[in-house]
Amino acid sequence: MTFKELSIIEPVLKALLEKGYEIPTPIQEKAIPPVLNHRDILGLAQTGTGKTAAFAIPIIQHLHQEKNPRKGIKALILTPTRELAIQISECIHDYAKYTAIRHTVIFGGVKQQAQTNALRKGVDILVATPGRLLDLMTQGFIPLDTIQHFVLDEADRMLDMGFIHDIKRILPKLPKQKQTLFFSATMPAAIATLSRSILHNPVRVEVSPASSVVDTIRQNVYFVEKQEKKDLLIHLLKRQQPQSVLVFSRTKHGADKIARILCKAGIGSQAIHGNKSQNARQNALTDFKSNKISVLIATDIAARGIDINQLELVINYDLPDIPETYVHRIGRTGRAGNTGMALSFCSQDEQPLLKDIQKLIGKNLPVLPLSA
Ligand code: AMP
Repeated sequence: MTFKELSIIEPVLKALLEKGYEIPTPIQEKAIPPVLNHRDILGLAQTGTGKTAAFAIPIIQHLHQEKNPRKGIKALILTPTRELAIQISECIHDYAKYTAIRHTVIFGGVKQQAQTNALRKGVDILVATPGRLLDLMTQGFIPLDTIQHFVLDEADRMLDMGFIHDIKRILPKLPKQKQTLFFSATMPAAIATLSRSILHNPVRVEVSPASSVVDTIRQNVYFVEKQEKKDLLIHLLKRQQPQSVLVFSRTKHGADKIARILCKAGIGSQAIHGNKSQNARQNALTDFKSNKISVLIATDIAARGIDINQLELVINYDLPDIPETYVHRIGRTGRAGNTGMALSFCSQDEQPLLKDIQKLIGKNLPVLPLSA
């Protein structure tokens, strides 16, 4: 299946090709045709599956093909975090670059002036986090009566982060007649109820959790005692001097501790996790993407939404409790034909976790001696 066969039009095709998207991912293959057909969608998919393009491409296409566009915001994309909002906005920027579609992104934690200025100039697609959207709506900056497409992204995470109340206040302000695309990685009862209350005869699209690892990723494991993990990490980073490493820690506290240890050892690094402010997380990400620091330490939740391509190395300082998480973690390296490397530190008490991972991926990870 190609994007052309999914009826994607020329200006969008050109932009996708420039981004190196040659074939649609499974969620794109399943979701794009019904979205182009004006259907509502209930999408069960995690970040990393290509779901942003699955909703953004057909919306861009709809708006581009509109004969007599009215003034006003035509598509609203709600997402829980500032990082995700920025990423979605960057994707739209790329996919819509050969169209006249205008978009902007609004999120909290920063001054509102630049955001309200952008809104005043007029936008077709608005990407927003719930708090700032409500705030600017209340101030009268955002009329939503022209919305034709509404995307609720990462609904389960919205619930976790306490945004459901905000969303319930936003929903009645949207026109009744519209297309709704609802995405969630999991479907707890509260999310299922919410989806039923806002979707009309939706098409359900689901992509199964990852179990396969691309063969461009070299994977190894070190058997190492807990208290020796830090020395191993420093040794590896000093010897290999990789440009971009993501180190996974199971806990927020652990992530901070690793950052402190690396800083003491003279290795520039920063930790990102839920206890850090949006600004601190964004700064860390910017420093990492611009190669100011080469090591980012993250918890799974914090890492879930971040889009970092071309990672050279992923280190599992702690093994994850859920084997699928291993696949997601290391899938951040070896992308787009680049070779990547994934190293896992396994202490005695983590051996059952390693066993589960090896069962899921269907092979044993080669063990490296500690001196290697
Ligand atoms: P997402 O799940 O939307 O966060 O996307 C995960 C990553 O996959 C992003 O880095 C996208 O740029 C990339 N991506 C999305 N669709 C495709 C595609 N069809 N081909 C190649 N890469 C893609």
